[in-house]
Amino acid sequence: MENERLARDIIVEGIVQGVGFRPFVFQLAKRLELYGEVANTADGVAIHLEGTSEAIRTFVKDLAEKSPPLSYITGISVSEGKLNGFTSFGIAPSRPDIHKSTLISPDAAICDACLKELFTPEDRRYRYPFINCTHCGPRYTIIDDIPYDRPNTSMKHFVMCEKCQAEYDDPTDRRFHAQPNACTYCGPHVFLHDAKGSRILSTDPIRETILLLKQGHIVAVKGLGGFHLAVDAARSDAVIRLRKRKGHEEKPFAVMSKDLERISAYAVISSEEHKLLTSSQRPIVLLKKREPHPLAEAVSPENAYFGVMLPYTPLHYLLLDSDFVALVMTSGNLSEEPIAIENFEAFERLGGIADYFLVHNRDIYLGSDDSIVRHAADATRNLRRSRGFVPRPVFLRDRQPQVLGCGAELKVTACLTKGNQAFLSQHIGDMENPTTYSFFKQTVSHLERILDIHPEIIAHDLHPDYLSTRYALEEREAQSRIAVQHHHAHIVSCMAENRIDGPVIGLAFDGTGYGTDGTIWGGEVLLADAKAFQRLAFLDPVPMPGGEAAIREPWRMAVSYIVEAFGTDFPIQEIPALRSLEPEAMRTVLQMIQKGVRCPLTSSLGRLFDGVACILGLKQTVRFEGQAAMALEMAAKDGIKEFYDYRQMTEIPIKVPTRPIIQGVVRDLWDGVPTEVISGKFHATVIEFFSGVCDVVATQTGVRRVALSGGVFQNAILLKGFIASLTRRGFEVYTHSQVPTNDGGIALGQAVVAAASVS
Ligand code: ZN
Ligand code: ZN
Ligand code: FE
Repeated sequence: MENERLARDIIVEGIVQGVGFRPFVFQLAKRLELYGEVANTADGVAIHLEGTSEAIRTFVKDLAEKSPPLSYITGISVSEGKLNGFTSFGIAPSRPDIHKSTLISPDAAICDACLKELFTPEDRRYRYPFINCTHCGPRYTIIDDIPYDRPNTSMKHFVMCEKCQAEYDDPTDRRFHAQPNACTYCGPHVFLHDAKGSRILSTDPIRETILLLKQGHIVAVKGLGGFHLAVDAARSDAVIRLRKRKGHEEKPFAVMSKDLERISAYAVISSEEHKLLTSSQRPIVLLKKREPHPLAEAVSPENAYFGVMLPYTPLHYLLLDSDFVALVMTSGNLSEEPIAIENFEAFERLGGIADYFLVHNRDIYLGSDDSIVRHAADATRNLRRSRGFVPRPVFLRDRQPQVLGCGAELKVTACLTKGNQAFLSQHIGDMENPTTYSFFKQTVSHLERILDIHPEIIAHDLHPDYLSTRYALEEREAQSRIAVQHHHAHIVSCMAENRIDGPVIGLAFDGTGYGTDGTIWGGEVLLADAKAFQRLAFLDPVPMPGGEAAIREPWRMAVSYIVEAFGTDFPIQEIPALRSLEPEAMRTVLQMIQKGVRCPLTSSLGRLFDGVACILGLKQTVRFEGQAAMALEMAAKDGIKEFYDYRQMTEIPIKVPTRPIIQGVVRDLWDGVPTEVISGKFHATVIEFFSGVCDVVATQTGVRRVALSGGVFQNAILLKGFIASLTRRGFEVYTHSQVPTNDGGIALGQAVVAAASVS
């Protein structure tokens, strides 16, 4: 009987609240002539439907396929319901216990409909910088507590006017229950302040700001997740001044352009990159520079890429409604401190940097930096997973207890798990100062509150001195605290995002990680599962003269590898790049190596890259970790197949000697082989060598799955090369995509390891 009336109860789980889901359900039901009701519940959204089986089938199909842009469905369950004889479809009031386990949406870029209104002179929100709807706008950064209702957001200070309230109450309106709904009349506003924080009276602060930027001024602009420091990216003087005031920072500055056409003037955009740029997450996308280009050299010095994003708030669109090719939009902070979010805080912290401040009175409750992604080796690689992605969960293969992973020291994120979901926090930064540490603590408790997670198991790095470790040991009540080795966490993080369990061969290549033997690891081949690991191969450790100092001064590593390769009698002046060094400093370092004083041992591959970069004359000192290694990657010529001699060993654990590689590099240097060829050969050698190690390990263990993780895999030549080489040898290769391969992803691995070791 086709026309028989049936009843069905449907539960939809995922990010389904605060994203326009109920109006969508309401309209879908109306269109299909289905009766019943929809309500928000503790589990998500509950729908009761009455109608023909045909209509119900279409409904369920469309539910999954046509759901609103910001919704994210993790499960739909359909069960038989009771016929109640509904004669219409309605939106039922939410139940009081709601939202406890529903997910909150990340912040999202302005949608097309709102953008259109923004630039329509007849619209009542024409040029209003806080226009938003259920399909777009702030979420995570303005929430203080659950449930996600206006009183729990920073919009609580604004009372909706009649017109806004009418939209908010109308189930057919795009702004039905849009918590940040506002207009010129009732919502937040922007204000211009001078360098001292005094308000400058202006009828149009945004147009005023555009003029100031044109004159070359530095303006701190309050955005969605915090302040940016903005300057005209085409003005060298302005960009250089910004670098000076930010403490001579050398990291590339991100830029923002109005549209793809303008970006094309200075960067190359592939179709994949096009998709990333225009996605609702609006991350910074690394794009290959066009040469020549109209932007200042100081925007992204010594780098083949620009970090580029499209505007994502109405305020950005208004600022870029001008003839700038691009604006520098770099995080509003002093070097390694967290991004500034409050007005008075910005006046204080950024007062010495910015000439002016464009602020607003919608509070940001939780800072969230821009995310950074790139397309490399045929996939999206998330290098910094933050605004736009957080707090969307990573789905795990298995359910696990509630755990908190505290991260390591650099690029820290925290991770909370619940069921089969892992929630990574936004980017917190390098946790080496009290400000970043308190931001970390604030973020963890905020996430625990809005996700309703109360972990009894705390996972931390093995390093005793990291602030994240101290937090786990000294500031938390917990049933169990579990120390997880850094590289084990890296590999398990990669396994977790790929939803595989062990054992795998893990190539963990990065800068620094505390080893179980107290030395510094970083060039490791592990046989790992979630519970445990064995260290099967590693770079033969060399001294790190001066410890941490050797990270900031790669020339120290260069000397260390040279001594390892040629002995202490080697005439260092024979390496042109080392000739200009202070003889006194050089002598001290040589003595340190000989006597083994202040020389921790390291097997780090990151350090080997640093050392080789220095030997080739690319970088003697660096301003941020990985800078020298990056220079080496940039210098490499594509497609070099030759490699340096090495000895393949078969006895586990394999200690990989760096000696033959360094000897080969130096010989080529003396023979006048171009830097790009030497760098290319060096990359090829690392790939060839460690692929060979995988063969050896596979023969002895039978394991044919390889997981790649660690900061060194941000190097696209290595990533691509290893995938190709290992695949050719018949391995299944797993890499990071949604979770960073650097230490920004490590908290996930820690949480999964801890869960496995208590079960
Ligand atoms: Zn919108
Ligand atoms: Zn209003
Ligand atoms: Fe690491």
